[in-house]
Amino acid sequence: ERTEITGFTTAVMKRIQPAFDTKQISLQFETEQPFYKSIDQKRLEQVLIILLDNALKYTPAQKTVKVSVKKEQIEITDEGPGVTEESLPYLFDRFYRVDASRNRDTGGTGLGLAIAKEIINAHHASIFAENTTQGLKITIDLRGVSDEEDRTRR
Ligand code: ATP
Repeated sequence: ERTEITGFTTAVMKRIQPAFDTKQISLQFETEQPFYKSIDQKRLEQVLIILLDNALKYTPAQKTVKVSVKKEQIEITDEGPGVTEESLPYLFDRFYRVDASRNRDTGGTGLGLAIAKEIINAHHASIFAENTTQGLKITIDLRGVSDEEDRTRR
């Protein structure tokens, strides 16, 4: 469906906001111009929930998670521990989890990011992770995705 991405992202954030309130993590939003993309809304929602859920899981209480929608990219930056540089290339692999002992109390199967990547690739978009000074930043790059109904660029 042809979707205004800024508004769509805000709507998904609203739905997950109570979980952030419960853990006392501030969820912030930044945006510039609204823009349209032809995407499967259910799928994009699933990706955003996976990423926000991870940010929530790995960020300590009283910290901040930032979502920015700019230049046809959605960025989610948390204030958690990030990941080691060695594990960055494997983050989106099936069943990959950084350091099993560290993750013992947070649970999970290591499938979330693999599913997110599959969905994003099916849209001819891309997704990548990087460490920032604050924590982990995940970027969804939608520049390759058509902004018209029922048409793809490639
Ligand atoms: P689930 O399948 O429930 O999402 P998961 O969180 O273990 O479980 P992924 O979402 O695929 O699985 O994430 C894979 C691994 O990447 C995690 O186990 C964790 O080690 C690391 N990771 C993911 N997101 C973050 C983050 N925001 N900060 C730090 N590490 C992260």
